[in-house]
Amino acid sequence: MIELRSPREIEQMRPAGRFVAEVLTEVRAAAAVGVNLLELDAVAHAMIKDRGAESCYIDYHPSFGAMPFGKVICTSVNDAVLHGLPHDYALRDGDLLSIDFAASVDGWVSDSAVSFVVGGSATPQRAAADSKLIETTEIALEAGIAAARPGKKVGDISAAIAKVAHAAGYSINTDFGGHGVGRTMHGDPHVPNNGRAGRGFPLKPGLVIAIEPWFLETTDEIYTDPDGWTLRSADGSRGAHSEHTIAITDDGPLVLTARR
Ligand code: MG
Repeated sequence: MIELRSPREIEQMRPAGRFVAEVLTEVRAAAAVGVNLLELDAVAHAMIKDRGAESCYIDYHPSFGAMPFGKVICTSVNDAVLHGLPHDYALRDGDLLSIDFAASVDGWVSDSAVSFVVGGSATPQRAAADSKLIETTEIALEAGIAAARPGKKVGDISAAIAKVAHAAGYSINTDFGGHGVGRTMHGDPHVPNNGRAGRGFPLKPGLVIAIEPWFLETTDEIYTDPDGWTLRSADGSRGAHSEHTIAITDDGPLVLTARR
């Protein structure tokens, strides 16, 4: 079911968006060479506790999950791209890290993700390839957000994302994509990262969605790690992921999870 939020409810959703942005900023700042993924999870966990927020991940147990997630952030390193389960791993120079975080504040959820390289890349070629991959997800996210206006359709967002990916030479896996956000983390409509302009659910003021392009360097196939959660590229190539939660308003898209 698709729910539209009143301007008052969208105002009530702002603190959750700000909090999610703050946590991603802090976790990113902590993600130095030698820092363990479990330490990054602890940074976010402490902030959740201080704020009196609720994690959307810790008890998350969908049909495809082997067990409840048990952590509060997703940490996907290098060939991992989505749902990375934090584990005992110290970050190395040149790792491409994607962090995804969703939390509920005052009963409203926000969801956002960021990708970046830790330390310095091994070679200029590696640095260039990682920058291109990360920037393409960011540009695709901006293009998707720009299309999120009243009068457009979900397919306009999907087509805008896909255009950016294809122009950069990446193929698109549509197994996972954006989604409605509200009292819970995943609602309708589904917002695929590929689709036809002018098709799908009409975008109306009050619709709150997460838009989340993610691409792999040289494949669109993924598999699930033996940990039961982490999704990795089939060919070992790297992945990147950018996500914001936005509200569609009469004045256009409002990015609730914008980072300073
Ligand atoms: Mg997310």
